[in-house]
Amino acid sequence: MSGPKPTKAEKKNPSAPRHTGRRAVPPNVSNADEDEVPTMETFGVLPRGFNMKDYLEVQNVHLFKMPNERNKREHHTDKYFNNKLIIRRGQPFNIQIDFNRPYNPERDQFWVEYVIGRYPQQSKGTYIPIPIVDELEVGKWGAKIIHKDYNSVSLTILSAPDCIIGKFRMYVAVLTPSGILRTSRNKEADTYILFNPWCKEDSVYMEDEREIEEYVMNDVGVIFHGEINRIKTRSWEYGQFEEQILDACLYIMDRAELDISGRGNPIKISRVGSAVINAKDDNGVIAGSWNNDYSLGVSPSAWTGSVDILLEYQSSGLPVRYGQCWVFAGVFNTFLRCLGIPARLVTNYFSAHDNDANLQTDVYLDEDGKTNTTLTKDSIWNYHCWNEAWMARPDLPVGFGGWQVVDATPQETSDGMFRCGPASVQAIKHGHVCFQFDTPFIFSEVNSDIVYSKAMKDGSKVVEYVDKTHVGQRILTKEIGGNGPQDITDLYKFSEGTEEERLALEAALMYGVKKEIRDGDQLQSVPDVDMDFQTDNSVFGSDFKVTLAFMNRSSDRYTITAFLTGHIVFYTGVLKAEFMNKNLEVTLEPGSSKTVDVQIRANEYLSKLVEQASLHFFVTARINETKKILAQQKIVALKVPDLRIKIAGEGVIGKEMTVIVEFTNPLKKKLQNITLRVSGPGLMKTKTQIFREVPTNSTLSWEEKFVPRRVGPRKLIATLDCDSLRHVYGELDIEILSDGSL
Ligand code: CA
Ligand code: CA
Ligand code: CA
Repeated sequence: MSGPKPTKAEKKNPSAPRHTGRRAVPPNVSNADEDEVPTMETFGVLPRGFNMKDYLEVQNVHLFKMPNERNKREHHTDKYFNNKLIIRRGQPFNIQIDFNRPYNPERDQFWVEYVIGRYPQQSKGTYIPIPIVDELEVGKWGAKIIHKDYNSVSLTILSAPDCIIGKFRMYVAVLTPSGILRTSRNKEADTYILFNPWCKEDSVYMEDEREIEEYVMNDVGVIFHGEINRIKTRSWEYGQFEEQILDACLYIMDRAELDISGRGNPIKISRVGSAVINAKDDNGVIAGSWNNDYSLGVSPSAWTGSVDILLEYQSSGLPVRYGQCWVFAGVFNTFLRCLGIPARLVTNYFSAHDNDANLQTDVYLDEDGKTNTTLTKDSIWNYHCWNEAWMARPDLPVGFGGWQVVDATPQETSDGMFRCGPASVQAIKHGHVCFQFDTPFIFSEVNSDIVYSKAMKDGSKVVEYVDKTHVGQRILTKEIGGNGPQDITDLYKFSEGTEEERLALEAALMYGVKKEIRDGDQLQSVPDVDMDFQTDNSVFGSDFKVTLAFMNRSSDRYTITAFLTGHIVFYTGVLKAEFMNKNLEVTLEPGSSKTVDVQIRANEYLSKLVEQASLHFFVTARINETKKILAQQKIVALKVPDLRIKIAGEGVIGKEMTVIVEFTNPLKKKLQNITLRVSGPGLMKTKTQIFREVPTNSTLSWEEKFVPRRVGPRKLIATLDCDSLRHVYGELDIEILSDGSL
């Protein structure tokens, strides 16, 4: 069988372009205009004596596509706010065809067809004629007649577990002596085919039902941020089932550089997804910005979830402003879950960015011990968020399937584009960075050593100190079925201090270093002075204390010169401004210890503070007698006030409720141009409200009405954003009951 045939016009002049005078549609667009694909075989002149009534004529096709009907329930697609049939591949579904007369298997021949894209071809899997078979065969498309009743035929259709996913056009074709008679295009019969983590033959198969429930079906997540000693959480609305979101995700695939024939492969989809979620190179979904000026868009911390971003991108086709790592990861998670690929958002604390691909984080100090910001190109982010997607890896040796890192935040190019992954988490752990894609970069993020080198005036560099445990201190994701963290650090690396951890690093260096070979490891003489660095509770707008502790383990008397510098930093580790700089002299008797307190005053840092309210302290200490250098860095994330959310009303589906969002300004100055947002999947679309001014210590209050659409545990998420205060969140869990009268 061949694909739908050319139209009459094309038959007359086969060389005529197919879309003359129409908007050019790139060949990888799946959602072709309906009139661009012929809907019926043309007969030319009907043969003499031919009577259409002799042949089967399709009168109606029933798809059983209501949320409460079998197909959507059994395929776990009843939550999608979408009235078309949505099925998951590799799993049977049922349809019924009504003909003009009873079907006679001796005489009549018909079949169902699925078609996607502009130029459907059977060999590419974009034109799928489904044979009627006696028995369905796992792994193949087939349709089996299960029931005949008067003029109706009921079919069970099985799709191939590796077929293309997307939105297909559906036809019923009947064979007549003069050709194929095809039903006309009916948008209501369009059928979405998605990945199927419940299907053993699908490459995204996941064994544990509880994991699928979390990683595919949960439409609200928790993002961990802040810093390792003060982990902050916020909820994020993935909203993969909300109205229009499935179409928006398919639109994103159309915008990606991926031929339709590759759209059954989660490796390809997640790789191109990591490229198209960011705006770089391809005018993808989200424009990143890290400079604290968001006047041309929405500040990254103000979003409550993915839905508004995806809808805006679908309607404008232009990058949505602005995102930072958790926004890229949040939207990417929606995209993956929406298509049926299990996905989760993870946060890596002290995430290294290895700029020069030597698998180590290089920090250069001047001869006097201060960081040389010109030479130091690598950076360490307080935290960095990315995604893991679950899939088999038939392209790698056995054992590297399962969770794969994919990262849509534009950090480094990979084969010429800003994209990253999929990289096997297992390969990262063992240092097998030779396995594609981008495994060395992610290995560095979680387990590179920090190598502190002194840059001498003559241009030479001397390794002073190697910190083997600072990078990748903790890796978290949301726990299954709850809102707390699950520590998954041990999936990415062996425990610090173990032989295995060193072996993995050596393997990574062997496989992955493109440039110079590392020469610092021989310089491992342990300094005989220890330095520790602590801070007490630091609340936004208040004073706090930094404590340095020195311990002399030698039998000599030492004098120590220490520099303590405090910078305002972006969470990416990029320094914005220095707010303090102290020079300390400490004398240490043999075998003794000493602590030094440094008071940090609010008025020193407040005026320069940026969004994430992070302070970065860097201390370098020189033992004057031995010339040894000790170095440490520490991030202090200041605690910001919360938003309070209350509700009024009963919590019953279809009944109006009120949400009240409140905020009290804790700062010693008034806040201006404040934007509040609130949203809740299944409860309300995002609403925003602007307040011109909130004076010191006064409280703003905002009320919005909504009508819950879905039963069960739901969540309201709110954000507050203004130039002098960002990352202010609030959330509230509520339970929506069904209407008792139903
Ligand atoms: Ca891009
Ligand atoms: Ca490096
Ligand atoms: Ca390490």
